[in-house]
Amino acid sequence: MRYLGLIPMMAALSACGPSSVHPVADLVLTNGIVVTVDPALPRAEALAASGDRIVAVGTNEEIAAYVGKGTEVIDLRGQTAIPGLIEGHGHYTSFGGSLLILDFRYAKSFSEIVSMVAESARNTPAGEWIIGRGWHQDKWQTKEDVLVEGLPTHASLSAATPEHPVMLIHTSGHGVFVNKKAMTLVELTDTTQPPEGGEIVRDSDGHATGMMREAAQDVFRQAYSGHQGRRQAGVAEAELRRMVTLGGEEALRHGITSFQDLGTTFAEVDLIRKMADEGKLPVRLYMAFEEDAKDMEGRLADYRMVGYGDNFLTVRSIGEKVLDGALGTHGGWLLEPYADMPRSHGLNVVPIEEIEASAKLAIENAYQMAIQGIGDRAYRELLNIYEAEFSRHPDKKDLRWRIEHAQVIHPDDVQRTVDLGIIPAVQGIFACSDGPWVVDRLGPERTLERGYIFNTLAEAGATPTNGTDPPVDEIDPIASFHCSVTRILPDGTKFQPQEVYSRERALYSYTMGNAIAAFEEDLKGSLATGKLADITVLSQDLLTVPDDKIRDTRIVMTIVGGKVRYRDGAIVPL
Ligand SMILES: [Zn+2]
Repeated sequence: MRYLGLIPMMAALSACGPSSVHPVADLVLTNGIVVTVDPALPRAEALAASGDRIVAVGTNEEIAAYVGKGTEVIDLRGQTAIPGLIEGHGHYTSFGGSLLILDFRYAKSFSEIVSMVAESARNTPAGEWIIGRGWHQDKWQTKEDVLVEGLPTHASLSAATPEHPVMLIHTSGHGVFVNKKAMTLVELTDTTQPPEGGEIVRDSDGHATGMMREAAQDVFRQAYSGHQGRRQAGVAEAELRRMVTLGGEEALRHGITSFQDLGTTFAEVDLIRKMADEGKLPVRLYMAFEEDAKDMEGRLADYRMVGYGDNFLTVRSIGEKVLDGALGTHGGWLLEPYADMPRSHGLNVVPIEEIEASAKLAIENAYQMAIQGIGDRAYRELLNIYEAEFSRHPDKKDLRWRIEHAQVIHPDDVQRTVDLGIIPAVQGIFACSDGPWVVDRLGPERTLERGYIFNTLAEAGATPTNGTDPPVDEIDPIASFHCSVTRILPDGTKFQPQEVYSRERALYSYTMGNAIAAFEEDLKGSLATGKLADITVLSQDLLTVPDDKIRDTRIVMTIVGGKVRYRDGAIVPL
């Protein structure tokens, strides 16, 4: 009877046509390879989104039923859609700030640099400094007509920027090139004597050319930082807004739809919340405070936000206070001394008591801890601190406290990590950027046992994570994916190749893994009905292309909350 009763209803449904059954989608992606990271349906051809959510994933035919008047249909033409990539560990405003500083590493002439500065001046209020870095005269293919000691004079630069002081830092950091406005500001004249250890380069008439060597640059750097400190609140806010926008847009160009920021301040969160209210955040932010415990006391509850502003802003973490330093500079805190500096175990940077005080505040205010532990000693100390806090609060479950970087881990601490539910927040790319010298620091045996053992951690049951720590490394998930699955170093050798992630795990780490590390697995990390329509479209299928083709993968499109924000090389304005 029941069976028979269904028949008229099914007939009625098909008679009404699909659009009365399904919601009409705002956006449909079709004819693609949809890699979902959802075990229930790992691969599909098409996807429909309505508002900021995914409403269906399936075959081209199934999804066609969601197309109606007003649906934007994008033909993926066989390209690959994956869940929006999540940067698992970066520094958002310093990343944005680094983009405000002009980058001359690839400039091929001085005149190219002058036009870049002139372009920046058009978008910068008069009187504000314009800063650039990374120039090197040996990279210039065309030379200026007038050269003094192999360098041009400031004439063309000063003519292009009469209203802005300009300081261009040499790639070595040992000198700066400045314009006339900057020299006027510091009252540098034809008779100014250089400070000891410095050199003001002058032409044959005794006029400064703009090049300041060594100590002669100090007065300009001081003038710049003095100016930054004295600016009115409005100017400083305008600059922070530019950083937020520039950083987010650069993230979108690299397929990043969410960014986990390890180290913000109350003041920054105040502004970023305002931008969330205005709907002006380019990517979704997950933020961790980097403030002293005494300054966080009494304030954390007011600032705790989860999914604020249509899921663009979450603040619920205390992060990157650094327990130790970096391995490259022998700062990572190790259980045994450095192989190439036997007198040193590295450095404990922030005192244990300070981290303990933060941990106490975190557990009381339902914040996550996310502290840097690079060396095996730092890692173990953090496990100890976290474990002590957990055992004082046995009622609190699923805390997912994190240890950032986790580059050297003693084998005894692998299972402990899993048992405590702690997430090692690692960056795949570091295995390749640090790989060339890690063996020097640790020696071969310790490297083999403890160095960048990211897959060992995942095999043991820890959540796999990924990222590039921008601006420390370039915001380049494809590069980090490539290193995660190959461990190939620039010279072609491999670093700890037994620790590669599988392709599937590498994709998982950049999507679902990072989502879990931020308690966001119900919203992000896979392409499934009900989740946010955050989608990255790639030129090819990262799961199947040969190793040596991975780096050719281009970001074709970045979609945040159902809105295409980057497409064909251009940002789509909000
Ligand atoms: Zn960092």
